[in-house]
Amino acid sequence: MKPWLGANWKMHKTVREAREYVARWNSLVEESPLGEEAEVVLFPPFTALAAVGEALVGASLGAQDVYPEDQGAFTGEISPLMLAELGVRYVLVGHSERRHILGEEDAFLRRKFDALVARGFVPVLCVGETAEERRAGRTEEVLLRQLEGVLGGREAFPGTFVVAYEPVWAIGTGTPATPEDAAQAVARIRTYLHGRFGAAADGVPVVYGGSVDPENVGGFVRPGVSDGALVGSKSLEADVFYRLVRNA
Ligand code: PGA
Repeated sequence: MKPWLGANWKMHKTVREAREYVARWNSLVEESPLGEEAEVVLFPPFTALAAVGEALVGASLGAQDVYPEDQGAFTGEISPLMLAELGVRYVLVGHSERRHILGEEDAFLRRKFDALVARGFVPVLCVGETAEERRAGRTEEVLLRQLEGVLGGREAFPGTFVVAYEPVWAIGTGTPATPEDAAQAVARIRTYLHGRFGAAADGVPVVYGGSVDPENVGGFVRPGVSDGALVGSKSLEADVFYRLVRNA
């Protein structure tokens, strides 16, 4: 499987800053094309999606969130139809910041996942335990609960999606998981997917996220550990993220 690398900008960059980033990114890619060697996805904030989508070369477009209805009285929300017109392919579902800061729960995340699949997007389902859950030895239980909350009870394989294992304690802290810990969690997720969907799920990329940088990415993105990385802080400068993709 070719590595999958996501740049989650979170709540960073105005439209002007996003344009500057893409101009720099494009010049790096044009100088030294990435070719088919990796699937790279940029996740700008909603306000910059159009500007990034219009100009971006050598990467796909992703959105950080979605509301699970096509339209209606949902003040402040953004629908799958609105994202489709911008050329968005991937959408994050259940990032820990949405679970823990915005209070989003599995039932709501499941609706998002379903709405995305129905409209032909590729959901990126994020799962991961907090530091406290880890200390209590509950990592596996938490991962399975989050997976089952969104994927459970389905008869058939829902279609293409990505799973990101992102231990909450490793996100934005500069303290990544060890590749061994990541490998263990990714393997557990794989076993779950296989158990639920059989061989159909074997092509689902399972990636790691949490303080990934250009120096440590090689430890996470390799056979037996994970299929890629979801990157926050080290995706905010085009040069740094490009180097990270190169090192993956
Ligand atoms: P980080 O964020 O790379 O800054 O730890 C990762 C994420 O939240 O996806």
